[in-house]
Amino acid sequence: MHTRISHALTVAALASVVALLAAQEAPKPKAEDTDVWEPVPPVITPGATNEDPPSDAIVLFDGKNLDEWVSAQDHTPAQWFVANGVMTVNKAPGVGNIETKRRFRDYQLHIEWKIPADITGSGQARGNSGVFLASTGPGDDGYELQVLDSYNNSTYVNGQAGAIYKQGIPLVNPARKPGEWQSYDVVWTAPTFNADGSLKTPAYATVFFNGVLVQNHFELQGQTLNVGKPFYKAYDTAPIKLQAHGDKSEPISFRNIWVRELK
Ligand code: MG
Repeated sequence: MHTRISHALTVAALASVVALLAAQEAPKPKAEDTDVWEPVPPVITPGATNEDPPSDAIVLFDGKNLDEWVSAQDHTPAQWFVANGVMTVNKAPGVGNIETKRRFRDYQLHIEWKIPADITGSGQARGNSGVFLASTGPGDDGYELQVLDSYNNSTYVNGQAGAIYKQGIPLVNPARKPGEWQSYDVVWTAPTFNADGSLKTPAYATVFFNGVLVQNHFELQGQTLNVGKPFYKAYDTAPIKLQAHGDKSEPISFRNIWVRELK
């Protein structure tokens, strides 16, 4: 019994000595130990406002032409309308969705859109369009950030404006009235895949809708399917696509679209 107690005391004493020595010998932390000087972040020039493209952005639409866009179906020149600095969906049969000529992986995107003041219809048939953050088609659904009139227009909440379609319900609804310009600022982290095509890391989307956070590093479950459970399908880089939805309401417009690739 005595032996055991004295042994325990010895162990305790040794432990305190070791702790004391460690405390004495460890160099005192200095603020500069955790200062990092390199690599230096590149200097860029911000836009005059937060809506204007900064100097390192790729401008996808500056109001003049659709040079950065093609038909999503056959990659022929995009046939949407351009007038007064704005592009508008062309709902003529056979025109359809348009997508960027360029392909992207991870990026920051700014895009502005407007529901016509004279919009008609209800639910999903009221100003339906979409920004496909990765257009992995043809034949795939891709990854859609919903565009819709969500100002006093009820629909399923995972399909309203600001939703990652059928997956991510927006945190709030900051929609403006039809006829007013609205904006999305998106950070897209593309999914990555193993050599055998299986998912390595999922896609994430952070979305500000009219400057308000509506998707906070939202983890996608796969492509944004209208029917069925989402699933991933391997891809590397993809265009950004805008939806010409076949609903009967007036076509919606876009302007001031720019992207910054994140390396
Ligand atoms: Mg849509």
